[in-house]
Amino acid sequence: PIEKQDVGLTVQNYIKDNSVVVFSKSFCPFCHEVKSIFQTLGVNFHALELDLIEDGDAIQRHLLQLTGLRTVPNIFIKQKHIGGADKLKELQRAGRLKQIIQGEMAPTEPAKPKTNYDYDLVVIGGGSGGLSASKEAASLGMKVAVFDYVIPTPLGTTWGLGGTCVNVGCIPKKLMHQAALLGQAIKDAKSYGWEVPDNVNHKWEDLVMEVQNYIGSLNWGYRVALRDKNVDYFNAFASFVDPHTVKSLDKKKKEKVVTAEKFIIATGLRPRYPDIPGATEYGITSDDIFSLPYPPGKTLCVGASYVSLECAGFLHGVGFESAVMVRSILLRGFDQQMANLVGGYMEQQGIRFIKQCIPTKIEKIEDGTPPTLRVTGKYVETGEEIIEEFNTVLFAIGRDACTKGIGLEDIDVKINPQNQKVICDKSEQSTQEHIHAIGDILDGKLELTPVAIHAGKLLARRLFAGRKELTDYVNVPTTVFTPLEYGCVGFSEEAAIQKYGEENIEVYHTHFTPLEFTVSHRDDNACYGKLVCVKSEEMRVIGFHVLGPNAGEMTQGFALAVKMGAKKSDFESLIGIHPTNAETFTTLDLTRRLNPQPKKTGC
Ligand code: FAD
Ligand code: NDP
Repeated sequence: PIEKQDVGLTVQNYIKDNSVVVFSKSFCPFCHEVKSIFQTLGVNFHALELDLIEDGDAIQRHLLQLTGLRTVPNIFIKQKHIGGADKLKELQRAGRLKQIIQGEMAPTEPAKPKTNYDYDLVVIGGGSGGLSASKEAASLGMKVAVFDYVIPTPLGTTWGLGGTCVNVGCIPKKLMHQAALLGQAIKDAKSYGWEVPDNVNHKWEDLVMEVQNYIGSLNWGYRVALRDKNVDYFNAFASFVDPHTVKSLDKKKKEKVVTAEKFIIATGLRPRYPDIPGATEYGITSDDIFSLPYPPGKTLCVGASYVSLECAGFLHGVGFESAVMVRSILLRGFDQQMANLVGGYMEQQGIRFIKQCIPTKIEKIEDGTPPTLRVTGKYVETGEEIIEEFNTVLFAIGRDACTKGIGLEDIDVKINPQNQKVICDKSEQSTQEHIHAIGDILDGKLELTPVAIHAGKLLARRLFAGRKELTDYVNVPTTVFTPLEYGCVGFSEEAAIQKYGEENIEVYHTHFTPLEFTVSHRDDNACYGKLVCVKSEEMRVIGFHVLGPNAGEMTQGFALAVKMGAKKSDFESLIGIHPTNAETFTTLDLTRRLNPQPKKTGC
């Protein structure tokens, strides 16, 4: 056995005396993998099997202090710490391992461009898609730069690296949704014996502060992740000068010009304002609400899609009087029965819907935080006018593509004139072979974070690792985080009927009451689930829809079944987990044809 104080020396000697050292365990599959990589490359290495020597534990503890890595394998090459199996495989994939072993390159040395351009890849936009693509390309040994720049909102709001999802989208939205759910839980708690005071107040400023602190930590994490992968990050607005050159301007108007062999456009979307008096002066959007420094007060959410309904939902849930101004229908593109159930529940909770109406003018009638605004609107059918006072008007009437002013027209990258999004083929290649687009900016595809992330990763692998796999944009699950969440995957009932014909579609459905709603006497039969099935394909389930608590969690799981082509009989043969809401889908036996009003009672 080695004396305690000698453990460090022993480890040091192993690292010094051997060009490649693997601190390993004889039974560990990851260690086996690493050793076989070195064997395949014909590299001499020394493996110290810590489970076979008496001082193995002491050495492992010392390695933790030395490297921060507790696990094996723990690899050193030419006296430089490499890391574990993942890091080694990453270096191998990037074609850098041999160079490091031969001493031609340090493990942390940035990649050199493979051509005469400054970079192998320049990504414009550091959001979900851009960050994913750039990190993957860098792990594959490419020299990569990312440009990300946020143009402040009319109110002056701006944010850090990470794009919409992290700063003004999914993340703050879900946290504020959670704040609203907790409000409901506090009300329910009384029925479960908690002595909760009648008035529990919510402090908007505290919520905003906590949410923004968390976002700040994510912004920092993204910067560190780029730095760790040797991706150059420029906080500057980039535009094309020629097909292989972009020019950028930072906050201080400092210009930078870089060239690259390939480009990915991932510039995303920004909220649209209506062209009516007072819209930009007094209105806000989802880009402002999550950092609004004062309580929004009585709020009008204009628009009837995801963003509007979700914002109205959480604002009402944390105590603000909220109304939704709907031009035509709720949640266009979604199953309309589900959309109306979503709206119906919100209405029942006290959120007002001003239907078939559009705003025509916003005026400020009193300064303040929040101010008092007079909103004039017009009913679409009758032209009748409506005037009402609100403290905040939040526009969620759609989002415009960020393709303006980035020089695409000069380099012959075609955009769809209807929506200004980049037109690409199924490999996300634009009309210029070396320029691709991913995420929200890509024409005809879904505007969702996981879609952008997935597309970014696969695109980088196709561009730089010879891989072939394309992003599968079919059967992407999604959830609207309204007070009762609505999750779905696959066809809406309308789309299914249009594709397969009404006679060929069978809908199995039921209302249900979550067990936890019963003791708190909440909303009997407010929740609902349905499966849309194709008769001619042995009742293959082509649409899954659920309205209820945690619908997102449920939908994620069932989406796998739908994607794999599950039939109604597969759902029936699956045994439920009791008592859950998800088990409802294993026992659906009522069809819409025979039972249009499927209410449930009891267990
Ligand atoms: P973005 O994340 O928008 O990133 C683009 C980045 O590029 C931005 O930082 C932008 O400032 C920057 N940029 C633009 N032009 C330039 C330029 N010329 N130079 C440099 N930088 C530039 N999706 C979900 O999956 N789940 C949800 O729950 C969800 N909730 C949402 C809630 C809200 C309120 C909103 C608005 C969206 C939500 N989304 C949700 C959608 C999701 O946020 C987007 O689909 C996702 O962020 C798209 O990623 P992206 O990379 O395409 O673009
Ligand atoms: P959408 O484009 O989906 O919806 C716009 C809404 O505004 C529609 O209801 C539309 O009505 C209405 N509208 C348009 N113009 C006007 C006008 N002038 N006056 C009044 N109403 C108007 O936009 P969103 O911003 O809600 O969502 C954008 C995308 O972001 C979504 O498609 C989604 O992919 C993503 N997202 C995802 C979320 C999630 O996963 N939970 C949450 C939020 C967003 P009409 O139907 O009459 O055209």
